[in-house]
Amino acid sequence: MTGHVISLATERIKRHDHIVRGTAANGMVRAFAITARQTVQTAHENHSTSPLVSAALGRLMMGGLMMGAMSKTDDELITLTVRGDGPIGGLTVTANNRGQVKSFANNPNVWLPLRDDNHLNVGAGVGAGELSVVFDQPGIAPYSSQVELTSGEIGDDLAYYFAVSDQVPTSVGVGVLVGADTSILQAGGFIIQLMPGHQEWVVDELEKSLSRVTSVTDLLQQGMTPTSMLEHLLGDLGYEELEAIPAEFYCGCDEARAGRAVAALGRETLLDMIEKNETAEVICHFCGKRHYLGTDELQQLLG
Ligand SMILES: [Zn+2]
Repeated sequence: MTGHVISLATERIKRHDHIVRGTAANGMVRAFAITARQTVQTAHENHSTSPLVSAALGRLMMGGLMMGAMSKTDDELITLTVRGDGPIGGLTVTANNRGQVKSFANNPNVWLPLRDDNHLNVGAGVGAGELSVVFDQPGIAPYSSQVELTSGEIGDDLAYYFAVSDQVPTSVGVGVLVGADTSILQAGGFIIQLMPGHQEWVVDELEKSLSRVTSVTDLLQQGMTPTSMLEHLLGDLGYEELEAIPAEFYCGCDEARAGRAVAALGRETLLDMIEKNETAEVICHFCGKRHYLGTDELQQLLG
């Protein structure tokens, strides 16, 4: 009976953006896959991102969401920051293990010519620079690590991060397909990792099946879901799904947080603003929402 209830809930989750988590090869492989068209569309609408920036930001958002799903701690926030010398300048993504993500790009409206293979030139948009990952949970000092960007294409950069920072051989595929009207048509990806103690034959099998993948957006265009993507890639290794998690763009900013940002300006500034009858407007970086604080609210901040 319980199994039936769980499968109904899972079915419901799988109708919208979601992440799946599973294993293969008797636990020697762990895998994550995601579909996030609506989530990336929301980021696109919040920031009026150009197709190039939608792709760059969307790829990093999906990486962040799948990394969030790796976390066993409910309150942990994972922030991925890409800083590059390309015209996009930087990308920031914060995710948790409940499938919630928020993001922004330093320059959301960058346009570059397509690459020779007709793909958006994310690598040129991002440029050379670094990827930093910060793990943050309440009551514990944040832990962070950085790697140099390898290509700026995001997927490669995340794979390199796992190899260097966690010493875990990892394959990352993330892709966003943008329509002529700049809306998001497809967004999805996968992370496949070889766990410590894996045997050589698993590496060989995995390389064989990954070599068949041209791009994630091709798989999505064929109608693949996160589950069928992992079955396609790991079927020969005995893929077993463990969990499906709904995914969404979620900011969580509110008046209180806006108030703390204004309070940080200092007592002098607050008194000055109240005296001049000024109001404060705080625009959230992540979701673009505007929070207004009138004289009364400013007065309250003084305590
Ligand atoms: Zn916000």
